Amino acid sequence: LGGSISRALTRMSSATVVDENVFRECLNEIARALMQADVRFKMVCDLQANIKKSVNLEALATGTNKRRIIETAVGKELCKMLDPGKPAFVPKKGKPNVVMFVGLQGSGKTTTCTKYAHYHQRKGFKPSLVCADTFRAGAFDQLKQNATKAKIPFYGSYMESDPVKIAVEGLEKFRQEKSDLIIIDTSGRHMQEAALFEEMRQVAEATKPDLVIFVMDGSIGQAAFDQAQAFKQSAAVGAVIITKLDGHAKGGGALSAVAATKSPVIFIGTGEHIDEFDVFNVEPFVGRLLGRGDLPGLLDKMESIVPADQQSELVAKLAEGAFTLRLMYEQFQNLLKMGPMGQIFSMLPGFSSELMPKGQEKQSKEKIKRYMTIMDSMTAAELDSKNPKLMTESRILRVARGSGRQVKDVTDMLEEYKRLAKMWSKLNVSKLIPPNGKMSD
Ligand code: GDP
Ligand code: MG
Repeated sequence: LGGSISRALTRMSSATVVDENVFRECLNEIARALMQADVRFKMVCDLQANIKKSVNLEALATGTNKRRIIETAVGKELCKMLDPGKPAFVPKKGKPNVVMFVGLQGSGKTTTCTKYAHYHQRKGFKPSLVCADTFRAGAFDQLKQNATKAKIPFYGSYMESDPVKIAVEGLEKFRQEKSDLIIIDTSGRHMQEAALFEEMRQVAEATKPDLVIFVMDGSIGQAAFDQAQAFKQSAAVGAVIITKLDGHAKGGGALSAVAATKSPVIFIGTGEHIDEFDVFNVEPFVGRLLGRGDLPGLLDKMESIVPADQQSELVAKLAEGAFTLRLMYEQFQNLLKMGPMGQIFSMLPGFSSELMPKGQEKQSKEKIKRYMTIMDSMTAAELDSKNPKLMTESRILRVARGSGRQVKDVTDMLEEYKRLAKMWSKLNVSKLIPPNGKMSD
């Protein structure tokens, strides 16, 4: 998708005269690309109409950056479509939050339940998992295995066939155990089965969840809208998680799911592993749809906030691609200063949302300072190494002693480094840098 939209926009910007025909043709091409990405036909039509209204053809004719003008307009429209206008319920620590997962068989509910639990466990919650899928043989075993691996308490039964009974029993058990995030996995089946929806209603009725999450396979194409709507009509869906966005899925289904459920996408699944789970951020997602890599708007922001003499340095770092411990150290410095470079790095996906979440700036800064103290005890070779295996047990021990910290602090820091390095490697930095190497065109 990114490719074809980019092509359309490039053609547009190379046209010397931007008359109505060229503009229309460009919009048609974008529309085709969006349809190919599984965006619903009706939404594509709406988008086209809105862009026609919002882009001033005259400004386009005189403006030097036609491509940027249209791309911004398309991006804004797509962002709007992904924003249902109200945020999803966010679990609060210390309260017995109940979250119920619904979705078709194979959509990824059971996998996603565990990812969701694990994600919150890392944030300090005490999650628990209840297997209310009594329909599929092996459902309980699967949940049990996942939960055991992630060290999350679980509840289920091989004998009991009534999902409502299990859900209620699990809920009671974990309420007593003071779990503050009780996650109920339900059974899937197929679209045509009215029993699925009836069972879902009964489980919801009996457990009164604070949040119902609709899990949708990202690769189902144009079927997304109808499927999401069917679930919304039978359950009080309040949030969406799109799975399997690591494969050939094109992402357009996310737009349909939001439109049909009037709920925001909160996470995406990007693989089978428990860590392959990301907070959903509208702007980077739309950026990817538009073929701008993972950093939409970054160039624009960079132009406006990074002093010109520092821009090339940043571009060089981004282009180099390798994320060493030293680079992490420098970015920590930038983050703490919140200077122009820090602002840029705080926009990288995963940097601010995970490392410095809103409202926890003080604790985050302390953590970052602690990590930096630890890194102060590392050798230059260690800081510049591109080999994550270099930090052996004996080196870790030495660093811990040298910095007056626990071994656990050092391994925590290295974990954080691995996470950021992985994120960094996923960024398509080349897309950020225009072929002429200059920021503005
Ligand atoms: P359920 O029937 O809705 O509970 O779905 P499962 O959780 O059992 O998942 C069905 C299959 O999809 C399993 O093989 C999972 O490993 C796989 N799966 C789930 N989420 C993802 C994802 O984000 N990416 C990929 N590649 N596979 C996934
Ligand atoms: Mg399941």
